[in-house]
Formats: sequence, structure tokens, C-alpha cells
Amino acid sequence: MFDPILFDFDGVLADTEPVHFECWREVLAGFGIHLEWSSFQREFVGVSDWEMLERLGAARTPPISAEELWPSYSRKRELFQTRIAAQPPFQQATVDLLRELHGKYKLAVVSSSHHQEIEPPLARAGILPLLGALVCGNQVQNLKPAPEPYLRAAQLLGASNPLVIEDSEPGVASGRAAGFEVLRIPNPSALVGSLDEYLRRVSLVAQRKSL
Ligand SMILES: [Mg+2]
Repeated sequence: MFDPILFDFDGVLADTEPVHFECWREVLAGFGIHLEWSSFQREFVGVSDWEMLERLGAARTPPISAEELWPSYSRKRELFQTRIAAQPPFQQATVDLLRELHGKYKLAVVSSSHHQEIEPPLARAGILPLLGALVCGNQVQNLKPAPEPYLRAAQLLGASNPLVIEDSEPGVASGRAAGFEVLRIPNPSALVGSLDEYLRRVSLVAQRKSL
């Protein structure tokens, strides 16, 4: 059996990708970069902000460097913080699930986002006190898909056999590179059902092995 459960934030616990997109779209419009939801979803979910700016800047006519675009990151972060405060991104079922798991498993959140974007909503929803660790993008050298964020969380919890829950390709790659079991879900609405089914399957396998 595994312990603990390491959750990605955006797209797993919180329905924040549309909010990230809106904030980036507004900020980047000032640079003549027109971001669309379909391409954001396809190319940039789970990708670091720096890499996204590099790629969008290179595709612009004329091209603009990520260094020139980078100051817009703090503006985007402020916008995001304001919006997420006005409209909490968690479903009640997600909060209930975390309360239920707390005590049975150690829990952590592992995200590429800045801690200023993540900590306040987690605190407001009452999730922060349930976590044994929180690893954010600004606290590691190498972001997902590198294994460092998940390895750091496991180390902080003193755990060797965690379950990672992810929604994006780079996130799944990060968990696997760390050598951990990964459960992939399509969106936050699928979290409760998918985890429930997974836990039932794992306990069935454990029962069969003990027969
Ligand atoms: Mg995600």
C-alpha cells in the first residue's frame, strides 16, 4: 500500500486552468500576443510559465524574448490572486474528500505555481492545515516534468511510496520520474470518483495477495 497522497493543484484539486488562461490572455494582449483557450489547453497546461512565455514570444511577429515578457508574470499573479479570492476554485466534494483522507493518509500539494497563488486559496478553504507538506514552483530548482517537486514532497513527509494524482502530461512525467505510482484524472470533477475507484482496486489486489 502507498502512503502518502501527493496532489497536483491546478486541474486536480482546483478548477483554476480557465482562470490562469483568462489572466494570461489579458496580460499578454498588451504585448500583441493573442492567446486562445484551445491552444492554451493543448500546449501550456502543466508547462512552466517561463517556458510558455518563451514559446509564445518566439511565435510572435516580431519575436519578443521571455526576459522582456517576464515582468508581466507579477501582473498576472496579482490578477489571479484577486480573481481566485472572489471565486473559490474548489468543489465542496473535493474539500470533503481531503477532510476524509486526512488522518488515514499523509497529504501534500505539489505544484509548479507560485506559493502566492496557491497558499491563500488553500488556507481560505481550510485545506492548508490538512497538508503535511506544500511544494510550490518557486521552492524548487527544476519544475515538472523533472522529478524534483515530487521527490521533495516525499522527503518532507519522510515517505518512500506515495501516490501522485495529476492531470497533465508534464505532471504525470514528473511523478513517474520520481519513481512513484501516478493516477491521472481529466479534471477536478473526476477526482472523487477516480480516487475512490483506485483505492477500491488497490485494496482488492491486496486482499487477493493475502488469500
Ligand atoms: Mg495540473
